[in-house]
Amino acid sequence: MTDLPATDLPSLWTHEPHRILRFRAGDTVAAIDADSSPGFTGNKNDAAAVLAERSRRFAELQEMLYANGREGDHRSVLLVLQGMDTAGKGGIVTHVVGAGNPMGIKYTSFGKPTAEERSHHFLWRINKALPAAGQIGVFDRSHYEDVLVVRVHALVPPDELEGRYAEINTFESELAESGVTVVKVAMFVSLDEQKRRLAERLERPDKFWKYNPGDLEERKLWPAYQEAYQLVLDRTSTDHAPWYVVPCNKKWYSRLAVTELLIEALKSMELSWPPPDFDVEAEKRKLADA
Ligand code: AMP
Ligand code: MG
Repeated sequence: MTDLPATDLPSLWTHEPHRILRFRAGDTVAAIDADSSPGFTGNKNDAAAVLAERSRRFAELQEMLYANGREGDHRSVLLVLQGMDTAGKGGIVTHVVGAGNPMGIKYTSFGKPTAEERSHHFLWRINKALPAAGQIGVFDRSHYEDVLVVRVHALVPPDELEGRYAEINTFESELAESGVTVVKVAMFVSLDEQKRRLAERLERPDKFWKYNPGDLEERKLWPAYQEAYQLVLDRTSTDHAPWYVVPCNKKWYSRLAVTELLIEALKSMELSWPPPDFDVEAEKRKLADA
């Protein structure tokens, strides 16, 4: 449990996910193949086995982060999940983050702002949801809705909207400086696959709760959303908070990929188990006599 090998990526990966999925200037949303599985040579069966193993690795590192938080390390991680309806954000929360210890996870989903939220700056509700020391914060949608749905529906004046990209970059650079490792995942499902997933939500009683009639209205605006996502990637993928573009038609791939992105983020923090702040041998002697 104590020794962390320098590189422990399973051999079915030909490229490290944090490199191959990282958004690069000039990349286009139009060119994303949502069916693809970049860097991974295995199939669905392989993925199940790899995910099981890597989830344990993630859980170990997540617990280490939490343990350090308890011992005064102020650092934390923030996982930002953005994607169209049915991209699989909830599945990441359940099947990837869910492998971790709930004590150290802070989950927040962002829906249509309440009246109170609307009366504040758009980052007000975001600031309130940030992870504490040792936690992994998970944003299921995020401040990026304020330049996505808000752009597509022209919910604020254009100059206000345009200023938000820089505000977000400043906000995230302050987060990074204060010890928050920000992992931004843009999840891309294809238009066809979205239709299949929405159809499934209408077939299965256990999925009705995920269906919202309004989703079909958003679906009609697909091209406008694609453009809005392009602007997000072009303008807000920074060195301190880069975007990772994850193809999501294959759920087994997206879950595996995000698991690796989280492992990489945690490894980059160079964590180790906190040393005891007591005399272990003396405590053993006392315990023997207790
Ligand atoms: P869901 O994630 O499926 O529960 O849906 C949440 C809905 O809230 C989506 O349609 C989002 O576009 C919408 N939403 C989230 N944030 C905002 C925002 N800042 N302004 C307007 N709508 C939002
Ligand atoms: Mg929904």
